[in-house]
Amino acid sequence: MDIQVLKEEVIQYAHKIGIDKIGFASTNVFSHLKDRLYEQQALGFQSGFEESDIEKRTNPHLLLPKAKSIISIALAYPSKMKKTPRNTKMERRGIFCRASWGTDYHHILRDRLLKIEEFIKERVPYVECTSMVDTGELSDRAVAERAGIGWSGKNCAIITPEFGSFVYLGEIITNIPFHPDQPIEERCGSCNKCVDACPTGALVQGGQLDSSKCIAFLTQTKGFLAEEYRVKIGNRLYGCDTCQMVCPENKGKDFHVHAEMEPDPEIAKPLLKPLLNMSNREFKEKFGHVSGSWRGKKPIQRNAIIALAHFKDETAIPDLVRLATDDPRPVIRGTAVWALGKIAEHDSLLLLSEAKDKETDPDVLIEYEQVINSIG
Ligand code: SF4
Ligand code: SF4
Repeated sequence: MDIQVLKEEVIQYAHKIGIDKIGFASTNVFSHLKDRLYEQQALGFQSGFEESDIEKRTNPHLLLPKAKSIISIALAYPSKMKKTPRNTKMERRGIFCRASWGTDYHHILRDRLLKIEEFIKERVPYVECTSMVDTGELSDRAVAERAGIGWSGKNCAIITPEFGSFVYLGEIITNIPFHPDQPIEERCGSCNKCVDACPTGALVQGGQLDSSKCIAFLTQTKGFLAEEYRVKIGNRLYGCDTCQMVCPENKGKDFHVHAEMEPDPEIAKPLLKPLLNMSNREFKEKFGHVSGSWRGKKPIQRNAIIALAHFKDETAIPDLVRLATDDPRPVIRGTAVWALGKIAEHDSLLLLSEAKDKETDPDVLIEYEQVINSIG
């Protein structure tokens, strides 16, 4: 078997099945990443969502003992909605980040990776493959960088010259020694726009992220958010695109090449108030197919309450009062109390003093104390 011919065939097939970019990388240990991850761990900069075993994250041979190469793929996703619904005073809306528009990309990429695996298997029956997308052990970004898909920007995203950073990444470790491609030269240069624009200072410096401060991570947590982050989250329901949107390399990059990635505006930018009253079943029916629903309804509802406070939406007061007094989840009750403190007038807030007497959860009681103290 001529491996160079097979590589060409795989590249052609990849483009035929809608893979926008493909590259090949060696399976050497990702030593630079390994040092960085240990440093991140020591500094407490990890989110907790990532694979905890740093050796596995950086050594492909621990995932496939006979590993000889890694195939990296990228699929471009849209950055603009074709019809953006209006965010009006009476009908406030939240926003899901672009990586949560359309069908959950994990499904789309797994389908393409599986097709590539099958294509190779038909030609090389002894091939061994291990595929992963996002939640796998390897860093999709480190693989993509090594495979020449793009460079690693100061915003920690992989930036491709063709599609900017609006690409989903996935990879296959194989036991076929495909010849590796060359990495792309980094082009950030003296630009620092993403670091300067980050609302929480999560980009500690170019290429170094403190996940514990990153809004993209915070929107996915389930507990109480610290006040400093509540005021910075704005109307983001899931994820944060700020450091991608300010990037000059993303200017004019908006690709609509995969029908399943097209956003439904009512899901990608949904009305906030209906979210407060949604049953689990309704939530699953409406949002279950998007990647931003993976943590369930609670964080999205908590973020919707924060967004309503951000807009000071007085029309949401009855819903917020109901949540503050009746919802079984302390995080929702407490966040609703906080939101009422931001929106409601002095007289309405006095009613909270009565509601407080029925509250028993210590965290929610702290929220009551803070609001009641603020009205004097
Ligand atoms: Fe900052 Fe948002 Fe980028 Fe996170 S995703 S680093 S919060 S700009
Ligand atoms: Fe690089 Fe500038 Fe883009 Fe940040 S905003 S990733 S520094 S090009």
